[in-house]
Amino acid sequence: MSASNYAVCPKCNIKHEEDIKKAQTNVDNFYGKVSPQEYLELIQIKNQLVNQDEQTHLREDYEFYTHDGILEIIYACTCDMCHQSYSFNKTINLTEVME
Ligand SMILES: [Zn+2]
Repeated sequence: MSASNYAVCPKCNIKHEEDIKKAQTNVDNFYGKVSPQEYLELIQIKNQLVNQDEQTHLREDYEFYTHDGILEIIYACTCDMCHQSYSFNKTINLTEVME
């Protein structure tokens, strides 16, 4: 395929948001129950997750072209982190859809 791009993986993004919520829950639940040093470490873990750059591990390859009045749409993506993938191919006869 001719074009490629790296995008945010929706599956990894959901996990990242869940990790932030868990870290925030730890911060909320352990206040006064662990040593000040341990509590500061929990805050640091949560802040590191919040401040992480966007996780652009989803490689996208795609191609759009026409030949003999046929439009070909080809898309595939694979995440380098979670290894989820998706592909989509569609062929459209333009003479049937053009007015
Ligand atoms: Zn992923």
